[in-house]
Amino acid sequence: MPAKFVVVLGSLMSGLGKGIVTSSILKILDLYGYSALPVKFDGYLNYDCGTMNPYRHGEVFVLDDKSEVDMDFGMYQRFLGKGMTGDLSITGGKLFSHIINKERRGDYLGEDVQIIPHMTNEIISRLENIAKSKKLDVLVIEVGGAVGDIENSYFIEAMRQLALKHKVVFVNLTYVPTLDVVGEQKTKPAQLGFRTIMQLGIMPDFMVCRTTEPLGEKAREKLSLFTNITKERVIDDSDSFTIYQAPLHFMEQGFDKLLVKDLELNGDRLNKAKLNEWKRMVGKIVNPKYSVNVAIVGKYTKLRDSYISVKESLLHAGAATDTRVNIKWVESSDLENKDELKQLKGMDGVIVPGGFGKRGIEGMINSIRYARENRRAYLGLCLGMQLMAVEYARNACHLEGANSTEFVKDAREKIIYLLPSQKGVRKKGGTMRLGAWKCRIVDKNSAVYKAYKKNVIDERHRHRYEFNNKYLDIVRKNGLKVPAFTMDGKLVEFIEWTDGFGIGTQAHPELKSTLETPAPVFVSFVDAARRLAQERM
Ligand code: GLN
Repeated sequence: MPAKFVVVLGSLMSGLGKGIVTSSILKILDLYGYSALPVKFDGYLNYDCGTMNPYRHGEVFVLDDKSEVDMDFGMYQRFLGKGMTGDLSITGGKLFSHIINKERRGDYLGEDVQIIPHMTNEIISRLENIAKSKKLDVLVIEVGGAVGDIENSYFIEAMRQLALKHKVVFVNLTYVPTLDVVGEQKTKPAQLGFRTIMQLGIMPDFMVCRTTEPLGEKAREKLSLFTNITKERVIDDSDSFTIYQAPLHFMEQGFDKLLVKDLELNGDRLNKAKLNEWKRMVGKIVNPKYSVNVAIVGKYTKLRDSYISVKESLLHAGAATDTRVNIKWVESSDLENKDELKQLKGMDGVIVPGGFGKRGIEGMINSIRYARENRRAYLGLCLGMQLMAVEYARNACHLEGANSTEFVKDAREKIIYLLPSQKGVRKKGGTMRLGAWKCRIVDKNSAVYKAYKKNVIDERHRHRYEFNNKYLDIVRKNGLKVPAFTMDGKLVEFIEWTDGFGIGTQAHPELKSTLETPAPVFVSFVDAARRLAQERM
């Protein structure tokens, strides 16, 4: 069967949740038993988002194959439960550098190289190759930005041309605001947005409407009348309790049936058992038995998207343990003032997530000490593990001046340091310890082994600095467990406290967590937070 395509286009503005719509479409196709994967197009001229500031752009997501991609890939994976590859992320930077390299090589000798046809053909053949090589039934393409942006215009033109050759279903995500003064849903912006797409020669098959209140009948009728699509193709995407409800909400409206029909696929294949399992997990998010309070102490807390995978992993772990995890975002630089540690008082657990640069580091270290001394559950992710080691060295091993050389180059005790192999590296993109790394858990009595229940695990990485093995003996002698290493035994992957519950990992287990398969250390962490809270009562 030749591959088919779904193209998701946003109008009016970005930030409406195209990623959630794309992920929901992927989930629906998966529930119908079709093999589907996403492609995300981002118009920026960065090659990938490895060099972007998470404060501006949200989290950098890492795949097994070392690719540093847009955080939407996190969302796709969390819904679809499948790992992905870097070729599914197409950026303006990748396309332009490829075309220019080809031109320099002489591949277009004699021609003047143009957006149409050279760029558009390149895009179409990439999509065809992905669909073919991965043997997909459907490729779901999310176009970043909004229609009308200069940056994605050539890509949208390629989508128009794609539909000349293949079966393509277009989905327009738009916004229907409610005007406070009149309390009425206004459809004019969405109509105009739709028209902008039609001006580009594309007639959307569906209009998905972001709203705060459920889409009213009047608004639906109006949108249908002015856009030439039937009423049942105007889909409500109003705020819900959790994003994981979105596919269910779309299915309640019959979006799945129409979509499958439009794609000329078999509509009788819905896997009801799988659907019910998803519903059950969503139910656990909406209505859990227990609750815990967890502080995330970081330096990008004002833009929550910077830590989206950590936040979602806590939600997954909560669903698995019947627990609502209330997250408090704590700005680490505030905690440099020890009086401010009172912010952690009502917390059952503390997480220090990944990060780069010096700002707020001492505040993170203070929060780790607080957790250790007050028997709060602690989870350190990458930077959070490095600082857990620094805190332990300083306060439990009395190694004054312990630090990471990322923050103090000539620290007296270089607990965390740069490997010699990283020292000469000047180039920034793609040069860290990246992607999937296998790790061996050597201590069966460790909390890490209890979490994973196996000897060899595999988690993703994104960092330059490492634990300095010169300090292995001394930290161990003082009660820090070092239960897991890279397969060659050379690099520390996990550390843990002997007392209470504290795990630090050099990896980013949050990058593999999904609702159906939550990250084991997050599950243990949420469990421990609850257990320790009960002990304190
Ligand atoms: N900055 C640290 C390093 O490069 C930690 C990175 C991270 O937390 N992802 O090693």
